[in-house]
Amino acid sequence: MASIRELHQQLVKKERSAVEITQEALERIQALEPKLHSFLCVTAERALEQAGAVDAKIAAGEEIGLLAGIPVGIKDNLCTKGIPTTCASRILENFVPPYESTATQKLADAGAVMVGKTNLDEFAMGSSTENSAYQVTANPWDLSRVPGGSSGGSAAAVAAQECVVALGSDTGGSIRQPASFCGVVGMKPTYGLVSRYGLVAYASSLDQIGPFGNTVEDAAILLSAIAGYDPKDSTSLKVAIPNYAASFKPDFKPRGQLKIGIIKETFGEGLDSVVEQAVTKAVDQLQSLGAEIHIISCPTFRYGLPTYYIIAPSEASANLARYDGVKYGYRAPDADNLLSMYTRTRATGFGTEVKRRIMIGTYALSAGYYDAYYLKAQKVRTLIKRDFEKAFAAVDVLVCPTSPTTAFKAGEKTTDPLSMYLTDLMTIPVNLAGLPSLSLPCGFDDQGLPIGLQLIGNVLREDLLFQVAYAYEQSTTWHLRKPQIS
Ligand code: GLN
Repeated sequence: MASIRELHQQLVKKERSAVEITQEALERIQALEPKLHSFLCVTAERALEQAGAVDAKIAAGEEIGLLAGIPVGIKDNLCTKGIPTTCASRILENFVPPYESTATQKLADAGAVMVGKTNLDEFAMGSSTENSAYQVTANPWDLSRVPGGSSGGSAAAVAAQECVVALGSDTGGSIRQPASFCGVVGMKPTYGLVSRYGLVAYASSLDQIGPFGNTVEDAAILLSAIAGYDPKDSTSLKVAIPNYAASFKPDFKPRGQLKIGIIKETFGEGLDSVVEQAVTKAVDQLQSLGAEIHIISCPTFRYGLPTYYIIAPSEASANLARYDGVKYGYRAPDADNLLSMYTRTRATGFGTEVKRRIMIGTYALSAGYYDAYYLKAQKVRTLIKRDFEKAFAAVDVLVCPTSPTTAFKAGEKTTDPLSMYLTDLMTIPVNLAGLPSLSLPCGFDDQGLPIGLQLIGNVLREDLLFQVAYAYEQSTTWHLRKPQIS
């Protein structure tokens, strides 16, 4: 499918209708889903209705915004009124939210057309989308491989052109890592920039909603639409939201003004050499566009993973306590008293990874262990934040690989949770510090699998990240390669 701007031009020039564009997306979905499995539910009827409303506006001579009539996919942990929201969990199998998330409401208000809800790891816990209780999504570049996770459905759908853009959520890397594996652009905004109202909570102090697009501009347009203060989210930031895509320039001249830091600790052991080469070449390219390159050390970066796996499960164990068989979704049918109703519902409703995290979190928060684990993890989190603060006193943007490898085979890591956790080594510290970060394509390995470059910015510097990413993208051709899937 074309870009947002191209489609917008076609609409306003009346070369195509929004219904035709939506039909194209729905046909693509119908053709590809038997292989890809990126959608948990396709909302064709509602999509055609929304598209019809955009066409009526155009026919009436009204002005339409950039997102009007654009097909979007929505990760299935964002509540959509009247449309099932499962979090890819059995425990929310029959849950139909009575309210709409702020992010999806903003998209609907902008005239965007939701074509369906995308697959994810159950409750966004995972790195491969294999933890979904319903289906395993394939990577469009190689169907035997995973799309990454947990927003694997959204990333695969955008890469395979089943929709133009999509929303995901990122708690420890769940937008950037699948963007990297699927060869698309994915951005995790500054904590608090996008309202979390209606996003089913995993780890509330880390969760952020963000955009996927085939280009930097598409992702930027989507973020401008969903960001902004919301009184319904107490952590929402009261800041003005720029039109990120309005002032893109193809380079960073005058030379020397933009300082980019390479995070030293992300290179070395565990990093695939092909990823290392691609990222190093990308840094050379950034330099040729006018950036000054520095080597930066973030010594506490390596504690990100263990810190995350205390804090995130702790918050998850509290957030997931609400699924008791009474208020939402699934209830075990064979219980004969209240307690067994709770325990059987949770024992059969949650999958293995979710239960593992509830147990880790409950343990870390229990009396006697709280100080040793949870409190300590919070202290390390502060140290990681300080490392970033120091880095941003010296440079404007940090770069490193998004993931140490390209997409792995389905089933390769499912029996070894620790090796699965390691795939987020380079994305997790960013969430702990609440910073914005973006992944964009920077090459391919010898099997034709995409490689992602991660750019990290200081608080609320999404504008700068998009600008750097845009200049890089425009000077390369990686984003023009598309998976050959039909
Ligand atoms: N893969 C990480 C996890 O399993 C991150 C998930 C996420 O960002 N939602 O927790």
